[in-house]
Formats: sequence, structure tokens, C-alpha cells
Amino acid sequence: MTELRKPLIAANWKMYKGPRETREFMRRFVGLYPPRTDRTIIFFPSAISIPAFLEATAGRPDLQVGIQDVHADLEGAHTGAVSAPMAAEAGVGWGLAGHSERRSEFGDDDADVARKLRRLLDAGLPPILCVGETLEERTAGRLEEVLQRQIEAVLGGLGGRTWSPPVLAYEPVWAIGTGETASPADASEAHAIVRQVLREAPGDATRGVVLYGGSVKPDNIDALLGARGVDGVLVGGASLEPASFARICLGETGDGRSDLQLL
Ligand code: PEP
Repeated sequence: MTELRKPLIAANWKMYKGPRETREFMRRFVGLYPPRTDRTIIFFPSAISIPAFLEATAGRPDLQVGIQDVHADLEGAHTGAVSAPMAAEAGVGWGLAGHSERRSEFGDDDADVARKLRRLLDAGLPPILCVGETLEERTAGRLEEVLQRQIEAVLGGLGGRTWSPPVLAYEPVWAIGTGETASPADASEAHAIVRQVLREAPGDATRGVVLYGGSVKPDNIDALLGARGVDGVLVGGASLEPASFARICLGETGDGRSDLQLL
């Protein structure tokens, strides 16, 4: 049976917006985006701005918040790091794992990503696993192999934990922050691969939610949300301005929506 799934739209603010700018953004955003029950909206502010986010959205429980990264350990001598239980205690409800900037800038490998994802699950924070190929990998025809390796490393390391539904963001590295966007057809093709890997994995990972990320903007959101297999988007640069992100959050799911619910 086809299940109509709500699009999930997430903002990754990276290392932008301290508490003051966070409050200011949310003050403007709530006026541009009234609550809607037909979509899920999640913000990933800087960890230091999470209390300001929660304060500014006290009357808007529809606007959810997550942590951009957690350490793979529960606690310890890791200067500057935040653990998953600390994030949960601070009031966040979600966590990112495996963002390409964590992989390339901070050296997180597949095993680190798997450990971080386990910590998020153990802390009760649903993770969004980011996967995606570099331009070199795509050009070399290695898209499928890369996605398979990145996803299987995590699924194989769950150690009996339930990750249900798995939420993944397909983010081609060549499209992140570059202005280059995968076409809706490219996104559909990669999302089909992600679903195939989930289907073939042991356990109950088949009912995955798959987001697209990579230079999503107000002028391409409708086409991307309408593409087969695209359940939502993860947005970096275009989520930093209230009107731009409000337009993305109001994106039309289009005629493709019933199709894209088929797993
Ligand atoms: C991201 O950082 O996850 C991202 C998709 O960034 P951008 O939208 O700027 O490409």
C-alpha cells in the first residue's frame, strides 16, 4: 500500500549564526512560515545556538531542532566535543551523522560515522545519515559502490539496535555549497540506489526516508520535491536567509508525490 509520507525539510546552518542571529532569524521565519501538518521541518543550528533556538521557538513545537555532529564516545577528554546524551539533555530531537564536511574536514571515516550514529540512537535521537559521492567517484562510475559502502558500514554496525525508519540524505559532494545541483533525474537515480541497498540489507531497514541535499534553492525546490524517490531535502546555504528557507519549506510536492512513496 502506498503511504503518503510528509516531506522532511531540514536546514543545516553549519558554522553560521550565533545565539543573537538565531533569535533574529526565527523571529522573522515564524512570520513567514505558519505551522503546517503536512511536512516536517528541522533546523540544525550551531550547538551553541540551540538554547537560543529553543527559546525563540517556544510557541512553535512544529519547528524541530537537531545537532550537527556528536562525538563517538559518551564522555571523555575530547576538548570541544559534544556527546549525544548531552545533546539530548539540551533538548534536541535529531542528529546528523556523516556529513561530507565532517568526513573531509575532520576525517570522519565510515567506522566513525557508524559509531556516532549508534550514539545518537542510544540517546534517543533519530539520526539523519548523510551519504554521497565526490565528483571523481561519480566520473569514475563509482556512485553505486560508494553509496553501498557508506550505508552498509552503518547498517552493519548497528549491533542489534533498531533504526526505524532509517533517514538518509543523499548529498553528492560536488553539489554541496557549489551552486551545482543534481538534476531531479540524477537525484531519483541515486535515491533508487540508496533504497536498493536498504532493501538488500539485513533487518528492517527497507522503509527508508531519503532526502536530497546539494544546492537546494527556492527556484529548484518544487522540481526536486516532485522527483520520484525524493522524500525531502537537506539545505545548507539557502537555509540561512528566512525568506529563502520559508519558500523552500513551502515547496510543492507536485504530481510525483504518490510515486515517490513507493519503496
Ligand atoms: C549541506 O551542507 O548539507 C548542503 C546541502 O549545503 P548546500 O545546500 O549549501 O549545498
